[in-house]
Amino acid sequence: MTQADVAPRVLRVALPVPLRRLFDYTLAESFPAPIAGVRVRVPFGRSTRIGVVVECVAGSAVPAAQLKPVTAILDDTPLLDAELLASVLWAAEYWLGSPGEALLNALPVALRDGRALPALRAQAWAMSEAGRAALQASRTRGAGLALLQRLAAAALPAECVRALPAAERVALARLRRGGLIIAAEDAPTTPIAAPALNTAQSDALARLRAQPPGFSVTLLDGVTGSGKTEVYLARIREVLAQGRQALVLVPEIGLIAQTAQRLHARLGVSIDLLHSGLSDGLRAEAWLRARSGAARVLLGTRSAVFAPLPHAGLLVIDEEHDASYKQQDGLRYHARDLALKRAQALGIPVLLGSATPALETLSNAARGRYAHLRLPTRANARPAPRVELIDLRRQRSEHGLSAPLLDALGATFARGEQAMVFRNRRGYAPVLSCAQCGWHAGCPHCARPLTWHRAAQRLECHLCGRLQPVPPICPACGSSALQAQGHGTERLETALAERFPDIPLVRVDRETTRTRSAQAALDTRLPEHGPALLVGTQMLAKGHDLPRLTLVAVTSVDEGLYSIDFRAPERLAQLIVQVAGRAGRGTQPGHVLLQTRHPDHPLLLQLLSGGYHALAASLLDERRAARLPPFAYHALLRAEAAHEAALFAFLDAARTALPNSAAIEIIGPMPAPLPRRGPRWCGQLLLASAQRGALHRALKPWALVLETLPQARALRWSLDVDPLEMG
Ligand code: ADP
Ligand code: ZN
Ligand code: ZN
Repeated sequence: MTQADVAPRVLRVALPVPLRRLFDYTLAESFPAPIAGVRVRVPFGRSTRIGVVVECVAGSAVPAAQLKPVTAILDDTPLLDAELLASVLWAAEYWLGSPGEALLNALPVALRDGRALPALRAQAWAMSEAGRAALQASRTRGAGLALLQRLAAAALPAECVRALPAAERVALARLRRGGLIIAAEDAPTTPIAAPALNTAQSDALARLRAQPPGFSVTLLDGVTGSGKTEVYLARIREVLAQGRQALVLVPEIGLIAQTAQRLHARLGVSIDLLHSGLSDGLRAEAWLRARSGAARVLLGTRSAVFAPLPHAGLLVIDEEHDASYKQQDGLRYHARDLALKRAQALGIPVLLGSATPALETLSNAARGRYAHLRLPTRANARPAPRVELIDLRRQRSEHGLSAPLLDALGATFARGEQAMVFRNRRGYAPVLSCAQCGWHAGCPHCARPLTWHRAAQRLECHLCGRLQPVPPICPACGSSALQAQGHGTERLETALAERFPDIPLVRVDRETTRTRSAQAALDTRLPEHGPALLVGTQMLAKGHDLPRLTLVAVTSVDEGLYSIDFRAPERLAQLIVQVAGRAGRGTQPGHVLLQTRHPDHPLLLQLLSGGYHALAASLLDERRAARLPPFAYHALLRAEAAHEAALFAFLDAARTALPNSAAIEIIGPMPAPLPRRGPRWCGQLLLASAQRGALHRALKPWALVLETLPQARALRWSLDVDPLEMG
């Protein structure tokens, strides 16, 4: 007998624990060898855990006597297919997470605790377009042909499927895999006809069709309203006709409803949704329908990038520049980057759409890695909005509003049109201070000013969430001259309501719109006709279509001009272009006003004269010169501790644990840009390299050392690969 024959069968299992490794278990003789991707229950410590089998191997590095046996195998067939399993493991490896946490998080909540798969809605089957074509071209034979002929007459109810002879059930499964038949509820209703594409759209579509089949990445770079969605729709239709699946990602939940409606009306199939606003049951159902191939078009936010796609045909990432695609805790993956990896594994094309592509994406396009298609003008031939600066050095402003801004608002309302005032700060004022002695209300922990929420009558730390009552008099000198400094959305709302008492006003920020669906708030609270005013934060900036909006005002762009974060100029430019894109989408032309104390700032001048792409080109030049991403690669170790000494003891030990490499620059340990968060101290260590490979080779072994450092025990730490935030 050879060694391998006597060696126990060993399963390598991914478990949802925060350790970057797999765990080995033996498999009793009585169990059949399970396949990768099935769930198992295994003993772990004093309890049991649900894990996912990654491989079945002959032996383990752990002595056989220490290996425990698997308790139960929970699935007959893999829950995650080979591609999804490999892609999620790749994500865990790349973003330095625990493979088990990544895999279990990729499953809908309802499937994480080992329950049996819920039954899908009873299915009736109907013929797809592809099936109709196959029948007409006599491309099927035997049982398959018989089934198609039967289906050509009418949908086949689920009860009849169970009664079919075995050969026909096999044929049915084969036809489903080929996309020739689909769930009856997915059978096309009559779609609304597409508008005739304009020249730019047809050219883009022709170039997409000319791409060789298989993996490709295309940046669809088109101004807001240029008709990018029409191009996605045309491609999705083609994919559906081949019996394949399309996955569409949008950056936030608020955009799901209107996108789903448009996709459904235009494609005539049901749209399956995957986002965190759904109940566990609905999410599990959509996920299982994706896995079975029944879901033809999947629409979701960031986490939908983990959807199973057995018949994948196309991935679309709308607003690809949006920072919401990056997960900011746990496994800090980037949905766009993971989508690219999956498309490569699946051998399918990816469409990245944006009016303001990320600098990373523009750089990849310039290097020829992505095809770059442009839609330079609005589809409906409306002029681009006119953008103007208001120089706050020459204008008095009250409550953050200058006279020219108020005049423009008045003129807009007088024409019966709607306006939006944008300010990325909620609350009444970011600072409450004393006019007598200069005292200001600060968070005792974070050493940052507290935001005054006037209606709620409290002070709030936007960093740690601490709440405090508003002092009636200055605690330092006893004066009653406490005053608001700066302005937030609440102050704008109050001032504007006073100034325009007859104009319906809706404020949209995290305080007023808890559901996080700005669109729903607007739909219910915005009047159909006549003038109206919107005041809000970032929540208003994303792609909502408000046809009667003609004026957009940003009350201050200055914070973005002088931030220490090297990405701030890119973000500010994207934000300005995106909010400007909200204006003038209907029949009236749009107008954009930006208030600033720095009207000569090169960023503003270039954005106004040359537009986003000219500015992006010079920002990329600056990044190249400064050796910053995308011309370098970053990884950030963040830590938080109750004591400053413990924080730096850990960061120092982490630094010492790094191999000496000329290819990697180590910056820190240093305090985080915001060094206090509540009672905790925050610090970080930044790794930078011109070579992605060199950085990654160092990172994985380093992460494993960090897990074992004694200094790591009393604090929280995390690793962020390709961080988007420097704090
Ligand atoms: P984007 O996705 O680039 O913001 P959309 O696809 O939403 O642009 O198009 C903007 C508006 O223009 C929509 O109302 C859409 O129906 C309309 N539109 C797009 N393409 C055309 C076209 N070829 N002809 C007429 N209207 C169009
Ligand atoms: Zn005072
Ligand atoms: Zn605080």
